[in-house]
Amino acid sequence: MSNPLLEMDGLPPFSRIRPEHVEPAVDQTLAANRARLRTLLDALEGQPTWERLVAPIEAMEERLSRLWSPARHLNAVMNNETLREAYNDCLPKLSEYATELGQHEGLYRAFRAVAETTDRLDGAQRKILDNALRDFRLSGVTLSEAGKARFRAIMQELSTLSSRFEDNVLDATHAWRKHVTDESRLAGLPESDRALARQAAQREGLKGWLFTLEMPSYLAVMTHAADRALRREAHEAYVTRASDQGPHAGRFDNTEVMERILALRHEAARLLGFHSYADYSLATKMARSPKEVLEFLDDLAQRSRPAARRELDELERFARERDGIAGLEAWDVAYYAERLKEQTFSLTQEELKPYFPAPRVLRGLFDVVERLYGIRIEERAGIDAWHPDVRFFEIRDAEGAARGQFYVDLYARPHKRGGAWMDECINRWRRPEGDVDVPVAYLTCNFSPPVGDEPALLTHDEVVTLFHEFGHGLHHMLTRVDHPSVAGINGVEWDAVELPSQLMENWCWQREALDVISGHYRTGEPLPDELFARLDASRTFHAAMQIVRQLEFALFDFRIHAEYDVDRGGCVYDILNEVRDHVAVVRQAPFNRFAHGFTHIFGGGYAAGYYSYKWAEVLSADAFAAFEEAGIFDSTTGRRFLEAILEKGGSRDAMDSFVAFRGREPTIEALLRHSGLAA
Ligand code: ZN
Repeated sequence: MSNPLLEMDGLPPFSRIRPEHVEPAVDQTLAANRARLRTLLDALEGQPTWERLVAPIEAMEERLSRLWSPARHLNAVMNNETLREAYNDCLPKLSEYATELGQHEGLYRAFRAVAETTDRLDGAQRKILDNALRDFRLSGVTLSEAGKARFRAIMQELSTLSSRFEDNVLDATHAWRKHVTDESRLAGLPESDRALARQAAQREGLKGWLFTLEMPSYLAVMTHAADRALRREAHEAYVTRASDQGPHAGRFDNTEVMERILALRHEAARLLGFHSYADYSLATKMARSPKEVLEFLDDLAQRSRPAARRELDELERFARERDGIAGLEAWDVAYYAERLKEQTFSLTQEELKPYFPAPRVLRGLFDVVERLYGIRIEERAGIDAWHPDVRFFEIRDAEGAARGQFYVDLYARPHKRGGAWMDECINRWRRPEGDVDVPVAYLTCNFSPPVGDEPALLTHDEVVTLFHEFGHGLHHMLTRVDHPSVAGINGVEWDAVELPSQLMENWCWQREALDVISGHYRTGEPLPDELFARLDASRTFHAAMQIVRQLEFALFDFRIHAEYDVDRGGCVYDILNEVRDHVAVVRQAPFNRFAHGFTHIFGGGYAAGYYSYKWAEVLSADAFAAFEEAGIFDSTTGRRFLEAILEKGGSRDAMDSFVAFRGREPTIEALLRHSGLAA
């Protein structure tokens, strides 16, 4: 029986992939790669070269990535018990393989020998070797046999634990639902949110309205439900997910998973001679030391906290005067912020949404990047995908050459992981025979699905999210680098990887761009000037409160990894409380278990790296300032960004790419100005 996951030509045949294909495909490929590696090393005869060693290894890795990417993707967007089990069973095997390669002394020696022949290699090749030698050391190649074995065991356990952490959050998210039959409890909710809740209830064969912790539903309650008790209930369920508190206390509890993850990360870092996991994390980032990261975050906190305090004071005053709220609680903040915003700018998301029907926004996004980068984007029908909602597109450049392809999966549904992200399906790769495989991306969002026959109408925040993720997509797809390990976002320092994505967000706030992005779903009329004026005025509304919130997450993440203590353990909530005292302005409830659901750092790759969002925002704001100076559709500036940053991917240091684009190193001025914090 042929295994569709092992096909190396073309797009993944999604309709034929079954959970039972995953493990055999992984087993078979790992075994083949191991055998191939032995043959390669035997055939070197003391003379390793790029062609005889590194190129075949890139090919091996690409083969593995091709089968694992659709499995990982399906596990995230079409999750079910069998697939989850198959996926989780593979994690330790993949982790073992990765550390085995990383700790392979013969391979390490061979790479060093190739690296010494630098005169015959180009920049991208040299970067691959530098990264590889660094990663060998970070995998423990120089450790004793016992040290290596321990390191391998740690990595394996960590990969299983991260996955369990995410599964717990996903299960906890789906376990909670609020069935409402009394319509008076819906006071304040816009018609579109009611319709969504009605649709959710109907799907379950229920009368009335059903609310869940999926983002569109949860946000609707938090920003619009006048019923304070309903908000509190949803908020409590959300911030206690996968913890020892709240409606499902102890049922999906991540407490021990979290402690174990921190202990293992610390142990691994110490094994390699780092002071802490934070130091280990920075070995692959732009920031040079924990001190530099902490000073950066503290400096921003000092600049933004007084403004955040003023914003909250004003909000408290508003809630008191409007509804007699004496102590503003965490579950009141979004609700009153939205009311205050409505009052100050006479602006509601509901008023904006009709101008942002999903199909129009998507086409508008494509028009914007077509103008900036001289590319063309067209839909292709009849592509084998995993769900009827999915659409597929192709990017061609001015010369008509295919540059990339991508799947778009926009709407929230059950068994789909929350949030929005871009993931790699296929990496750009020049095969040894000379043909180039163009990169393919997945763009996944969780927007409110269309209700009835009308198109999905996006909030402006959702439009911004879509632009953000597409920025990652462009980074992945417009690369010119032929070696997968430094093509696109691969090999890019974590704290620079948000530059292209955050840059894209800026166009969502420009009049000229909104003419292209927006169009009333009935009349096609673009966003009217006076509505734009109010949207624009609202841009920095509560900007400082949002910054201190990001800083709270970033400082918490960095400090729990930097200050881990073997005797005292993770001290997760002690540190979180300290950080909150120091930078936060909104008071959280005692039951708040934010860390238990912080998948970015316990599940995803942001451990001791959450600061990257702000760090990269310095870069993206400064990069956008170049467009502000020359015109936001200036094609010369666009081409420079394309060539200096998007096309180069991870083939050189992020700072070198930035300087190539901007002509100098980044400064923080543009970020402060965009956030309304400039002096
Ligand atoms: Zn991002």
